[in-house]
Amino acid sequence: MSFTIAQNLDTVRRRILAISATAGRDAASVKLLAVSKTFPANVIRAAHAAGQKSFAENYIREALNKISTLHSLRELIEWHFIGTLQSNKTRAIAEQFDWVHSIDRFKIACRLSEQRPTHLPPLNICIQVNISGEISKSGISPNNISALAHDVASLPRLRLRGLMSVPSPMSGLRVQRTPHRRLRELFDFLNAQNFDLDTLSMGMSADFGAAILEGATIVRVGTALFGPRTYSTH
Ligand SMILES: *Cc1c(COP(=O)(O)O)cnc(C)c1O
Repeated sequence: MSFTIAQNLDTVRRRILAISATAGRDAASVKLLAVSKTFPANVIRAAHAAGQKSFAENYIREALNKISTLHSLRELIEWHFIGTLQSNKTRAIAEQFDWVHSIDRFKIACRLSEQRPTHLPPLNICIQVNISGEISKSGISPNNISALAHDVASLPRLRLRGLMSVPSPMSGLRVQRTPHRRLRELFDFLNAQNFDLDTLSMGMSADFGAAILEGATIVRVGTALFGPRTYSTH
């Protein structure tokens, strides 16, 4: 198992290197975020042993179990929450995670800021944008992004880092690039208003190449690292 994960990590890292070179970008500017939802703590441990430091989870109860099981690695692992946010689950996220990528409402952002413990650094935030017919209905419309970004940036215990999106699955590099390009244009638009964003969280197993070509700084990869998921536990 761990051998396979190490091999998959190596394959994905090599692709990131190659695509970054094609794009004329420094591969160090692209962070590989391992999406470990539905996989047990021992799989995360194996990936960590193979050099992977950042992991993302979608389901809070499952995530808390794994974070607790892997407590001895807490200072060595960066935990990202990328799932749907509910008001009654924000406290655990504010206390346990380093990043949240799925903010699309000010009310949730307020709760996270209020609940972020003062002994921890501000929680890193990406606003999820519904850039074009997304899989889920999550994400704010591009038309409303400036106001939400302004409000989130004003919260004391959050640090607004950038934008995130989950475009509908499409095949072919050229069509895959279109939604990623739109997200990058929105990112440039906000930075032209002095937001100082540094993070574009876009691209998954099937389209991270297209995302890197369009400027992704975080790619969220699950299946290509860990294999297919079974959702029977949810
Ligand atoms: C599950 C998930 C991923 C990973 O998807 P793969 O296709 O398995 O790489 C990335 N981002 C989000 C928001 C997800 O929910």
